[in-house]
Amino acid sequence: MSGGDKLDFEIRPNPAPVSAADRAALLVNPGFGRIFTDHMVTIRYADGKGWYDARVEARAPIPMDPAAAVLHYAQEIFEGMKAYRTADGGVNLFRPEANAARFGVSAQRMAMPVLPPETFVDSLRRLVEIDRDWIPTDPDGSLYLRPFMFASEVFLGVRPANEYLYVAIASPVGAYFSGGVKPVSVWATPEYTRAAPGGTGAAKCGGNYAASLVAQAEAIEHGCDQVVFLDAVERRYVDELGGMNVFFVYDDGSVVTPPLTGTILPGIIRESVLTLAAESGHRVQERPVSFEDWQADAESGRLREVFACGTAAVVTPIGQVKSPAGEFLIGGGEPGRVTMALRQQLVDIQRGDAPDPHGWVTRL
Ligand code: PMP
Repeated sequence: MSGGDKLDFEIRPNPAPVSAADRAALLVNPGFGRIFTDHMVTIRYADGKGWYDARVEARAPIPMDPAAAVLHYAQEIFEGMKAYRTADGGVNLFRPEANAARFGVSAQRMAMPVLPPETFVDSLRRLVEIDRDWIPTDPDGSLYLRPFMFASEVFLGVRPANEYLYVAIASPVGAYFSGGVKPVSVWATPEYTRAAPGGTGAAKCGGNYAASLVAQAEAIEHGCDQVVFLDAVERRYVDELGGMNVFFVYDDGSVVTPPLTGTILPGIIRESVLTLAAESGHRVQERPVSFEDWQADAESGRLREVFACGTAAVVTPIGQVKSPAGEFLIGGGEPGRVTMALRQQLVDIQRGDAPDPHGWVTRL
């Protein structure tokens, strides 16, 4: 594709889709990331040729040469977002152009070509359209969309590859919390860090997640749901969770989140929460919060609420924090009022149950 031309998709419907009865059975309790729809999108890239061969086709294994560059040097990026069924039978995407922009930033950091944002959004629109019947009707369910791109060139030299494959797949998912929102516990790992200045922390690349798994496993061993990472330089300031950003709510109504200094992922829910909190009259601040202050302010009661946010769980209260130095509760371990109000505001916009003054929703 040369600059500005729209890429046409060849549509090859799956000749053997899952039957309506089998699909309905799968959608009863889909869990997360285990069930997939009938189709996928693929687009190829080669240096000198640009983006080509865009298709919507039957979801199938991807043949790969053992020397494909991604298998050796992990040149891979991805995104995560959801399509929601609305009360009137429509389908909403939440800020897909923000995911497209972040995908481009991730690509640049990993020395990969940038997929034009309109092609990214178009690919998801086409996938959701063809697999629309897979969106759960359960009001807490959604269709999780996973666009990703990797170096497909067959070459073992250590340099940016010159061939890539972009793929988008979709997975129906159920309620994140069965039986209502429950506060989660977090483990502040003393040993591992997620991202250092100048590293890849702000990119959504697979390698960041590979590096976080051992710390997440450590959190589980300590009886916690999630790991929270501290900064890599001083091991003092709160960065983010393994897959969510973090917010602090104080007794003066201020809402605080760590700044985007390149070591944390610029979450789309994070940015939306900053906007909604400011509009609700909170003083919002992007500033560093030390782990020491987190504990002291929780114990004094000055810190009222802490929550994590991201596409998967929207806004999730954090009730308990553990570290080798001990443990403490926030707000008595119960979900806070500001947390739950922000959560509801976001969910209502995402699902089309509230006005959308910022134009965040793309209706399909
Ligand atoms: N941080 C990390 C490390 C994540 O993986 C995610 C999920 N994409 C987030 C934060 C939250 O980002 P978003 O709000 O865009 O889902």
